[in-house]
Amino acid sequence: MNARVGSVKTITSTANPIIKAARALHQRKARNESGLFLAEGHKLVLDALAVDWLPEMILMLEPGDDGDPGAQLAARVRAAGGDVIFTNGAVMEKLARRDNPQTVIGVFPQRLASLATFTHGTVIALEAPRDPGNIGTIIRTADGAGAAGVILIGNSADPFGIEAVRATMGSVFHVPIARTDLDGFLKFSARFPGPAIGTHLEGAVDIRTIGPEEPQILVMGTEQAGMTEELARHCSQLVRIPMDGAADSLNLAVATGVALYELRRAYL
Ligand code: SAM
Repeated sequence: MNARVGSVKTITSTANPIIKAARALHQRKARNESGLFLAEGHKLVLDALAVDWLPEMILMLEPGDDGDPGAQLAARVRAAGGDVIFTNGAVMEKLARRDNPQTVIGVFPQRLASLATFTHGTVIALEAPRDPGNIGTIIRTADGAGAAGVILIGNSADPFGIEAVRATMGSVFHVPIARTDLDGFLKFSARFPGPAIGTHLEGAVDIRTIGPEEPQILVMGTEQAGMTEELARHCSQLVRIPMDGAADSLNLAVATGVALYELRRAYL
């Protein structure tokens, strides 16, 4: 239980250092240095509070009376120890970098899971995904399909960037996310008590014909060039998702969704 009650301030200038620091969280460098990230929307802040992932602060349009859901949210955040900054539409637009922003933006501490905590279920491993929208969509799909977590291998986009967080629709607070390099993943996978099932356009096996049996790791290749040879060689087997049209491949997030539901079909 956090004994500290958060403070309340009103700030209406975009030049204020608190607003500038929050805006800087659009940059990966500032996120890495501070360990913080932005998550927009009343629902996302509630999602986070529900799992005790407390915002350092929320910035929001000044709510009406105590019955206003915004006022209730502000009271909950303060009781949990987070600060509340009331501000205006112009500041919120600058913070969100878009017109018609949400009425609340939270500043949260990042949380990454340790690979050692992944011991069961279906774990998704993504090789160097570059598109934040794909990463967020996969985290959301992992949540929907009940995957145990998502591992980002190598030089991936930041799962705590605003675009990725938007695409998670709140699942960033529910799905454990880990990061590692290829070597770290290969070591983890060698210790993991189930197979690493790689999806590959040249996979010898139709994904519909295998298992499914947990624990298992679903391994996805890169968006541009597909799976590197080293990772493909490591996989217990390479499976393909059947395709019938002229497209060469499926989008990474779509392929992950199809494969994940296929590999979890016995558990849903
Ligand atoms: N040009 C890339 C290639 O040659 O693999 C396309 C990569 S695709 C956009 C991204 C990843 O999604 C692939 O590495 C693979 O893991 C998965 N994927 C997409 N379509 C697939 C399919 N039909 N069968 C198996 N995996 C697929």
